[in-house]
Amino acid sequence: MKAVAPGNTILIIDDNTDTIRLLSTMVRDQGRVLFATSGAAGLELARLQRPQLILLDVEMQGMDGFAVNERIRQDPALRSSAVIFVTAQSSPEAEISCLDAGAVDFIPKPLNAAVVQARVRTHLRLQSALAALDELANQDGLTGLYNRRYFDRQLAAEFARHRRHQLPLGLALIDVDDFKLFNDRYGHQRGDACLEEVAESLRDGARRPGELAARYGGEEFVVLLPNTTPDAMVRYGDWLCRRIAALGIPHPSASAAPHVTASVGLYALIPSDGDTAPAMLHAADMALYAAKRAGRNRSVLAGGTVADMVA
Ligand SMILES: [Mg+2]
Repeated sequence: MKAVAPGNTILIIDDNTDTIRLLSTMVRDQGRVLFATSGAAGLELARLQRPQLILLDVEMQGMDGFAVNERIRQDPALRSSAVIFVTAQSSPEAEISCLDAGAVDFIPKPLNAAVVQARVRTHLRLQSALAALDELANQDGLTGLYNRRYFDRQLAAEFARHRRHQLPLGLALIDVDDFKLFNDRYGHQRGDACLEEVAESLRDGARRPGELAARYGGEEFVVLLPNTTPDAMVRYGDWLCRRIAALGIPHPSASAAPHVTASVGLYALIPSDGDTAPAMLHAADMALYAAKRAGRNRSVLAGGTVADMVA
């Protein structure tokens, strides 16, 4: 028997406890096994635990397997959970309707241990490949931070969430000062190394759950800070400017200091109905522009406070 693969969670939803027991025994070597005896309980558990695989009984009292599957497909939080239907209906038509409903596979009852194990193993392997691809698609190749595409999606989601709960959402746009001059002097390879170090600083600074640092393009980065007040944003901007200056990467042709520095545009707001995520980005961008104009190596909060930095 193979050891349990780390990180794999299999959720069994079935209204028959004997079937749950049997299935659990068959797949327990392939991951952490959870179970629920109704569709509603299964959905709740799935949202909490984000299983890679859901073994879903078709014939259930109350919400049947198809209805549960429908809910799973519609829930963005469960987008990456694959469903395998388990059913005694073994006609080709039944099998086809399972696959048409968006399930990745179909396991017939009565259950055969070897078949169950082979199918679960195959789909866990596929799921892990898909997750790796997904991560690559969301990542910036050079710095390993998230990319702009992913950031824009998260910003939209967080913006909506903060509007719903009336919480302050913070945004920081970071631009490496005189980066073109740095590349001109040292070449693109050192330029890339510089961006990687700056990215590392951003990663260090984004530690609370939900905080997200991304490369926005070229030498521009962006950090999303959930539930963060303007005051806290100013402190963050200060810290970040100091942190990047403290890297001590020589940059003699820079205008603000003889080492690499960054300018930071900050914005925080409790979104109301008229506000939009793009307008928020625009405000942070204006603040970044103001930081540049004021002499670089500093952060500026949109709509007021200027947090000056000492070189
Ligand atoms: Mg049943």
